[in-house]
Amino acid sequence: MAWNVLILGGGFGGLYAARKLERTLPPHAAKITIVNDVNFMLYTPLLPGAAGGTLEPRHVVVPLREHLKSTDLVLGHVTGGDPDRRVVTVETAEGKTVEFGYDHLIVSLGSISRTFPVPGLREHAVGFKTLSEAIALRNAILNTLERAESVDDDAMRRELLTYVFVGAGYAGLEGLAELQDFAADVLDLYPRSRLHGLRFILVEARDRVMPEISEDLAEFAVSELRRRGVEVRTGTTVERVSANSVELSDGEVVPCRTVAWTAGVKATPVVAKLGLPLDADGRIVVDRFCQVEGRSDAWAIGDAAAVPDPARPGQSTPPTCQHALRQGRTVARNVAAALGAGRPRPFTYKTLGVFVDMGRHQAVAETVGIKWRGFPAWFLARTYHLHMMPGLRRKLRLVTDWTVDLMFGRDASELGQLGHPPELEQVLESQTAGGTRAESGARAD
Ligand SMILES: Cc1cc2nc3c(=O)[nH]c(=O)nc-3n(C[C@H](O)[C@H](O)[C@H](O)COP(=O)(O)OP(=O)(O)OC[C@H]3O[C@@H](n4cnc5c(N)ncnc54)[C@H](O)[C@@H]3O)c2cc1C
Repeated sequence: MAWNVLILGGGFGGLYAARKLERTLPPHAAKITIVNDVNFMLYTPLLPGAAGGTLEPRHVVVPLREHLKSTDLVLGHVTGGDPDRRVVTVETAEGKTVEFGYDHLIVSLGSISRTFPVPGLREHAVGFKTLSEAIALRNAILNTLERAESVDDDAMRRELLTYVFVGAGYAGLEGLAELQDFAADVLDLYPRSRLHGLRFILVEARDRVMPEISEDLAEFAVSELRRRGVEVRTGTTVERVSANSVELSDGEVVPCRTVAWTAGVKATPVVAKLGLPLDADGRIVVDRFCQVEGRSDAWAIGDAAAVPDPARPGQSTPPTCQHALRQGRTVARNVAAALGAGRPRPFTYKTLGVFVDMGRHQAVAETVGIKWRGFPAWFLARTYHLHMMPGLRRKLRLVTDWTVDLMFGRDASELGQLGHPPELEQVLESQTAGGTRAESGARAD
């Protein structure tokens, strides 16, 4: 009978593991199944582009069914597991709880935004980790600009036109830069707001931004942000968030309606319910083959796993897609080897570089020890992501979006209503109210 390989999570790690397994194992040697809560992989490095409106949201995702040949996709939510019985429980899209058995389990459930016990944070801040959060932030900018046009109270306009971003890792900094660029681009359409001006603030607890890259490149990024009018507050924390203000540790109370929280990630909490060993940060403990400690049939990769980092002995690999996708390929080879195809190999990848795209043809990058800044770094970043995006059709979509953006600029429509239709009766009522007598009569019949 064919082997049963179960993959939890269809993001960078899960998708690349499944693709590699499909190619490595002999045909029909194993039944490969991916459980994921959405039917696509989010290409996160391009999320800031979707938020800033340079990319169509559908073009920053990779539909799993298009890219998997013989792997089954189960749409559902992983809720727990019992490694001794070799089962995982999943709440399916129909709301049923189903147990999935396996011979080999690969966990790649990623991470969520890491929050701190700051009063009001959960209620009033938006993360920057998912497509819905990125689009919600774009819509918040358009919404506040629209509302600022119609209010007469200057203090309220100030609140509406102030945006606070908390956390200056590369993902947060890219998100802020793209959204600020977008707001500055559409501001000319809003005469009252243009006169008043926008205020963007980046708050960071550490004494520098982007610890992932060299200090001089981080400084270049900060000076670029300052040139655009962004206030960068390092060594500062957020003490309290309310519906219309943010209190900072230096005592300033900033009136604002939009707070984006980009202060790091932690492993998806459900991994703690899988019965596998965890480290102090809640990540699954694995060896350099990505095999779970004490288990010959369980493997873990990506943001949810503490994979020993070959570049920094004694530490785990950082939460990046370049690590997750390569761990996906490594784990596929090792699962295949455990099933008799090939030999196992340890994870040996050392980071080749980091790109931080700040929009407006500006970026910083560090690749194999070479530092890039400004336009060359921006061009390199785009070329790299174009190369990494799976599939020719999806690459062409990116090129088209970027070209349209260069030629025509960005769209200022706020489409928050997409996918949220009004209830049918509300539609009928509004049609009746605005419709002709004949139409109303026809409905009454
Ligand atoms: C804005 C942003 C920008 C980034 N930019 C870069 C970059 O430029 N370069 C870089 O290297 N890295 C970047 N990263 C980091 C990168 O996205 C992650 O490190 C990478 O996605 C981790 O891969 P993964 O497979 O562990 O998790 P993911 O890719 O997040 O995949 C996890 C999958 O599991 C699913 N899932 C979660 N919980 C459940 C559940 N209970 N049941 C079912 N499915 C579930 C999720 O929906 C998701 O599909 C960025 C991240 C963000 C947020």
